[in-house]
Amino acid sequence: MPSVLAWVRARVSRGKGYVPGVPTESVPICPQCGDPLRAGAMALCRREEDDRRTCRVVWGCSNQHIWWKWADRPTAPLELCPYPDLMDG
Ligand SMILES: [Zn+2]
Repeated sequence: MPSVLAWVRARVSRGKGYVPGVPTESVPICPQCGDPLRAGAMALCRREEDDRRTCRVVWGCSNQHIWWKWADRPTAPLELCPYPDLMDG
């Protein structure tokens, strides 16, 4: 499991999630069920491939599928988040 250095909870209202630095027009779709995802938190992680401290944005859909991706790589694919209890809203 990837190690997470710190969590930044982003309490977002239902439906429209907004995380600073993440363009709202590119709301991703859940790869598993096709529902729109909303951002729920950011995780500060250490990325092993370039040894940088980088945030991952955590996204969740209405069916409790939890994904995350690197905040500085908007085109990177969503990965299954191993911390499903993050989206408790
Ligand atoms: Zn889903």
